[in-house]
Amino acid sequence: MKNIILIAAPAAGKGTLSSMLVDKYNYAHISTGDLLREASLEKTSLGEKISNMLKNGELVTDEIVFELLEKRLSKNDIKNGYILDGFPRTLEQALEYEKIIEKLKLELGIVVVLNTEYETLKKRIVGRVLCKKCGAVYNTLTGVNTPKNEHICDKCGGELYKRSDDNEESFKTRYETYLEKTKPLIKYYEDKGSLFFINGEDKEQMLKEIEVLLHD
Ligand code: ADP
Repeated sequence: MKNIILIAAPAAGKGTLSSMLVDKYNYAHISTGDLLREASLEKTSLGEKISNMLKNGELVTDEIVFELLEKRLSKNDIKNGYILDGFPRTLEQALEYEKIIEKLKLELGIVVVLNTEYETLKKRIVGRVLCKKCGAVYNTLTGVNTPKNEHICDKCGGELYKRSDDNEESFKTRYETYLEKTKPLIKYYEDKGSLFFINGEDKEQMLKEIEVLLHD
């Protein structure tokens, strides 16, 4: 399958789309946010440093991100195709990524931008809860994927929690960072001729639109 880079504002639907593609096409899902959250749990000064950057909604330094990403891309499960969710987030990262794929002999694939309204993003972030055990994502505000009980996962009975950066203040920082640092990537990939847009408001529609690109 073609490798996919997803570019979108926070909570635009990258994780949801990725999990549908993992289920249906066996893609490897590489979320730098997930890699960083995992690394932030380590009881070391590096873990603590990452944890603070995440909490404030700031971008984590490139050196840390590149190291985690390169390690992840060296695993075998990516050979069937992988989705990059949350990377690259800046032009510098996009340039470095090209060196990484050259070194590891990987293809760029397609770059997909999810278009989602600002108000939708805010509600998704402020109402988002996740399962500690299986990672399932629910929302207590949008009316989509409402958990039956706001503390318990419908799927596995695990405990639901909120990400430390899923509050209005952090969202504002993350959104501004997106506009300033990540959005310019759209032009960069457009010039390379590998860019496509899909609508991120509705789950099934998103899947349909990306499938057209994958089978093209
Ligand atoms: P969202 O896209 O909803 O903000 P993510 O899980 O993709 O959620 O990212 C959460 C946080 O992880 C970001 O706010 C940032 O601090 C950090 N992060 C993720 N990917 C990167 C990256 N490529 N470069 C720097 N920081 C990153």
